[in-house]
Amino acid sequence: MEIKITKTTTPKTMPPEDKLGFGKVFTDHMFVMDYEEGRGWHDARIVPFGYVSLHPASTVLHYGAEIFEGLKAYRRADGGVQMFRPMENIRRMNNSAERMSLPLLDERDALEILTTFVRLEERFVPKSFGTSLYLRPFMFGNDESLGVHAVKRATFMLIASPSGSYYAEGINPVKIMIENEDVRTVRGGTGYAKCGGNYAASTRAGERAAKKGYSQVLWLDGVERKYIEEVGAMNVMFKIDGEIVTPMLTGSILPGITRKSCIEVLTKMGYQVSERLLSVDELVEALESGKLEEAWGCGTAAVVSPIGKLAYGDKEYVVSGGKIGEVTQKLYDTLTGIQWGKLEDTFGWVYKI
Ligand SMILES: *Cc1c(COP(=O)(O)O)cnc(C)c1O
Repeated sequence: MEIKITKTTTPKTMPPEDKLGFGKVFTDHMFVMDYEEGRGWHDARIVPFGYVSLHPASTVLHYGAEIFEGLKAYRRADGGVQMFRPMENIRRMNNSAERMSLPLLDERDALEILTTFVRLEERFVPKSFGTSLYLRPFMFGNDESLGVHAVKRATFMLIASPSGSYYAEGINPVKIMIENEDVRTVRGGTGYAKCGGNYAASTRAGERAAKKGYSQVLWLDGVERKYIEEVGAMNVMFKIDGEIVTPMLTGSILPGITRKSCIEVLTKMGYQVSERLLSVDELVEALESGKLEEAWGCGTAAVVSPIGKLAYGDKEYVVSGGKIGEVTQKLYDTLTGIQWGKLEDTFGWVYKI
């Protein structure tokens, strides 16, 4: 595909790596392309980073036709740059697009867009272990009319943000509260799609949890409020009496690439991993009997996030003595080792650029 590049005349200076934070600093450029029914995707371009101008009737502003992805470009120990399973993100974006009646991307074009963009912005890929260039592809419906229907016009964009280490202060297990009131999504809904509205609708529970001193909520399914689904915006895994359990993908759970990678790593290490329904009653029973050995969230941003405390109603339980568990630590070491190019990638997951 042809990508027209217009370079900025005012290049930014890269902030010190320990001052990056997450998603606050952006690179010099952004990628944009447009879609129109009948014409397909066109005008692929990289332009100086800047504001987006939209018609006030633009679909995204009224009916929330928006999807996104999140992946990282990592600086390898040998100085090169690589992505982690980027095709998985591209395929998931197309699944999200299909759910939201947005146009699909050509998979190979999407990979070329990511690669071309990261090459151009290479100087923004930070160097220290744990830091990365966070890549945010997103797409929105852009019809200039208020009719409710599948969009005829859309825009796809890619922006990138050099980001600091998630664990700049070390890996501290988090306190999580089981959410009994709000639900994130329901089966038949949009839970498996990375669409903007899912996050707008789930912030309230997170905010309420924060007021009570918890970092996030553990979501229950929206139909019976019985089965564990995810933790905040991460997938969740437990080690119960030797078995590793993660909720099966029922349609309301986002199929995380970190989740998938954890399952593959653990299986290779010889653990028994079950993707199945896990009820809150079974979890509480495991907590009370001391059979819950470890619990952690997993997602691209944190890789793994150990859960040290879990609250249900007015009871609070300590998990793994409030420390990171053995399996959680092994997963962290293996995945970050592969992502930052310190460990040999025996899975064929890294994509060097
Ligand atoms: C993105 C996301 C995840 C994690 O997916 P990864 O591909 O591992 O980053 C999990 N749950 C939700 C709700 C998400 O949005």
